[in-house]
Amino acid sequence: MDPAASLRFKVLLERERDRAKAQISRPLPTAMTSPQADALDCAADLSLWTVAQATYLVARRRLAEAEVALARLKAGIYGICQSCSREIDPARLEILPTATLCVECQKKAEKAQS
Ligand SMILES: [Zn+2]
Repeated sequence: MDPAASLRFKVLLERERDRAKAQISRPLPTAMTSPQADALDCAADLSLWTVAQATYLVARRRLAEAEVALARLKAGIYGICQSCSREIDPARLEILPTATLCVECQKKAEKAQS
């Protein structure tokens, strides 16, 4: 990967990492603590909390993926498929900068999972 491209991906990945970090630091909604809360309030709180927790988990995963990609970039192995060691299509990295597998290996991995 040429230096200009790797710099561009570095910026993309850092932005992704910072966005995920910001999401993680957002506090969870105050859940069901009010003594006046009725069942409906609790239900509303619970669904807010569920959404917030799911968002949090997704953000945690995105943060981890961005950090792995940045470490790989620093090590000079960014954009190399972890499975077959071939170069990942740059068009794929544009869409998914944290990809660690090429399209073929990703497909194989997904098949193996299902
Ligand atoms: Zn591959």
